[in-house]
This record gives sequence, structure tokens and C-alpha cells, in this order.
Amino acid sequence: MNLVLLGPPGAGKGTQAKLLEDSRSLVKLSTGDMLRAAVAAGTELGRKAGDIMERGLLVPDDLVIKLIAERMDQGGCGEGYILDGFPRTIAQAEALDRLLKERGKELDRVIVMQVDDDALVERIAGRFACAYCGEGYHDLYKLPKVNGVCDRCGSAGFVRRRDDNEEVVRARLEAYHAQTEPLIGYYRRQGKVSAVDGMADIRAVAREIGQALEGIGVKGAKRPAKTPG
Ligand code: ADP
Ligand code: ADP
Ligand code: ZN
Repeated sequence: MNLVLLGPPGAGKGTQAKLLEDSRSLVKLSTGDMLRAAVAAGTELGRKAGDIMERGLLVPDDLVIKLIAERMDQGGCGEGYILDGFPRTIAQAEALDRLLKERGKELDRVIVMQVDDDALVERIAGRFACAYCGEGYHDLYKLPKVNGVCDRCGSAGFVRRRDDNEEVVRARLEAYHAQTEPLIGYYRRQGKVSAVDGMADIRAVAREIGQALEGIGVKGAKRPAKTPG
């Protein structure tokens, strides 16, 4: 099964993508993480994208589409992909349809995570992550179980994103409403959207996503045709 997690910055896409990756044999593809890795590595893509990301604008479509296509060509797709932060424009959504089709796959479901804009600013202001394994945390909503020690890998170094400040968040929210929100209509017309309440707590959101995915992509889940008589 191939899924898209769609929602504004701070909606909980990365958090839920990680939970899905841990609980099912799905592979998470996060263009945000991939772009940050390119910036850190100082590659040509990183040099092109870094400035744009710091301003909270979208990186050009051709660059992110190429990034996703290259990652898909490396193989290792498990039982399917969880796309986190891609697509973000209609052109990217069309490219995704094409990329999956070329590989004999298709998009099964788009989970739209609904969160109020005010809550997003608070979520992003409190966001931090393990510097080593990338596990995500929040100052109020998800602290490590032992203060200062990552739950997942036991390391003690944490980082905050440079674009997670109020001013840049406003620009990212604007980009979301103008360029990404129209994707909800695009996918509704394909009958693929399941909306979930992203304001609920992390576990409750995960349960709601689990319900939205019931019966999808499970081998043999389709009802057998009734035998006559
Ligand atoms: P968030 O967690 O706020 O949703 P991401 O980590 O997904 O943010 O993305 C961080 C930044 O990387 C974005 O503000 C944008 O500049 C860039 N970016 C990530 N994915 C895309 C994409 N699919 N298209 C264009 N730009 C992207
Ligand atoms: P996105 O990938 O959509 O930008 P994240 O998954 O990084 O969002 O979540 C943003 C911040 O909010 C993180 O610090 C995360 O720990 C926290 N968070 C995620 N989901 C919830 C939730 N349902 N309730 C409260 N905080 C949450
Ligand atoms: Zn860690």
C-alpha cells in the first residue's frame, strides 16, 4: 500500500509516518528530511534548496520530483511508501501518479491531517529531534521518557530546525494554503481522501489513521466473488 500524509507544517505528518513505518513494513519518504540531508552534505541540490527552505518557501518542483524518483530507483520499498511532505503542489501530485504507475504501483490513500493554524505555531515552536536517530519530540507534548536521553537510541544530543521559528512558520503556512491545500480537492476527485483529526493526541491520531487504512493493501483482503448456488 502506498500512502500520502498531507497536512500543514506541524500537523504531525513526520510523527505519524514514523509510527506507521515502525508498525508496518512500509518505507517513509520525507522530502523535508532528504532536503535537510542534502543541505547538511553541501551537495548541489543542498546549495540550491537551503536558502529557499530558510525562507519557508517551496523548493522548485523539478528538484523534489527528481529526488523522489532517484530514491524510488534505489529500491527497498517494503510493502509500500509513506510519503511525508510530498507532494506539495499539483505538479508534484501528477508526477507522483506517473512515478508510481511507471513502477507498476499506485497510490492507495491520502490521509489529510486537520489541525488549526494556531496549534501549528505552538507545535512547531516546541519541536525538537534527536541529533543521531531523528526521533521527533516536543517540549510539551512528547518529551523523552528520561530527561535529556533519546527514547529510541539513548543518545543525549538534540537539534531544532532553523526554519522552526514563528516568522518562517507563517511563510510556510501561507505556502501550504496557497500551493498544497488544493491537493485535497485533487485527491477527493480520485476518491482517495481520509480526513483525520490531527488535534487529538498522538496515539489517538495513529488509531484513526489505522482505521482509515483497514482493508487496504492487505493481500487477499478483497472479498472473494460469490460462488453461484
Ligand atoms: P514541515 O515539517 O513543516 O511540513 P518539511 O520538513 O516537510 O516541513 O519541509 C521543510 C521545507 O523543505 C519546506 O518548508 C520546503 O522549503 C522544503 N520542502 C520539503 N518538501 C518539499 C516539497 N515536496 N516541495 C517543495 N519544497 C519542499
Ligand atoms: P510535521 O511533520 O507535519 O511538520 P511533526 O510530526 O514534526 O509535524 O510534529 C510537529 C510537532 O508536534 C513535533 O514536536 C511533535 O512531537 C508534535 N506533535 C505531533 N503530533 C502531535 C499531536 N497529535 N499532539 C501534540 N503534539 C504533536
Ligand atoms: Zn535518538
